[in-house]
Amino acid sequence: MTFITRFAPSPTGPLHLGHAYSALLAHDMALAKGGVFLLRIEDIDQSRARPEWERQIYDDLAWLGLRWPTPVLRQSERLPTYRAALGTLWQSGLLYPCTCSRRDIAQAVEAPQEGGPPPFGPDGLIYPGTCRSKLDSTQPLPDTVLRLNMARALESLPDVLGFEEAAHGAGTITLPHDMLLAEVGDVVLARQDMGASYHLSVVLDDADQHITDVVRGEDLFTATYIHVVLQRLLGLPTPRYHHHKLIRDAAGKRLAKRDDARAIATYRAEGKTPDDIRSLVGL
Ligand code: GLU
Ligand code: ZN
Repeated sequence: MTFITRFAPSPTGPLHLGHAYSALLAHDMALAKGGVFLLRIEDIDQSRARPEWERQIYDDLAWLGLRWPTPVLRQSERLPTYRAALGTLWQSGLLYPCTCSRRDIAQAVEAPQEGGPPPFGPDGLIYPGTCRSKLDSTQPLPDTVLRLNMARALESLPDVLGFEEAAHGAGTITLPHDMLLAEVGDVVLARQDMGASYHLSVVLDDADQHITDVVRGEDLFTATYIHVVLQRLLGLPTPRYHHHKLIRDAAGKRLAKRDDARAIATYRAEGKTPDDIRSLVGL
């Protein structure tokens, strides 16, 4: 099978060193394996995506020496695909509408319980299930926040799910049901303002682009748990994952997207070369 990977930035700010590392790593890996490097624009959050950031992404990546096939897949053009998948999950009774605010969730989670810290998952506080009884898939797909009923979803899946983690020779990562219930829970799959959540769109995009190997930061390691569940529910293949280390600043802090001082564009303006960027990120 041909090695196919992708770099999938969101055009919501400048690319920084961390993005350059991720893109170069994926690109080099594809080159070494005689595979394909794809670019995907994750502009599903239209309230934050800007055309000028998208243009800057193309420009910075080309400057770094990367090439990719066109046309590039843009999430904003794929809403009907995402809605169709939501419709399938809705009709299977696996989704429910949720009207909780962040505050409602925080209050429900902080209500006196056994003790211990509030449980956090890939998307923040693990949803306490307040709206779960609102499940009613006999109605048409509603245009509201929709959550996955994780317990019900797992009923139809094998006892142990998992994925191949290729980074650091980690091997197979297994995802037992009780862990998915306790550490992931009922995640949001559709938002009113975006149609679909990142989790749903990324899984559909990776499948439609025949991605065999996902190269991305280890900050998304636990998000992969959600992606594996969605792949199983939707009958999609699970790619191999390479979750790489994050590029940190001198103080050990993760580079934030809005840290303009570390933007590739800033290094370019200072006269740095693509090779300088490579050595800055340790490639
Ligand atoms: N769009 C995501 C980001 O910029 C990347 C998602 C992925 O690689 O799966 O963080
Ligand atoms: Zn709710």
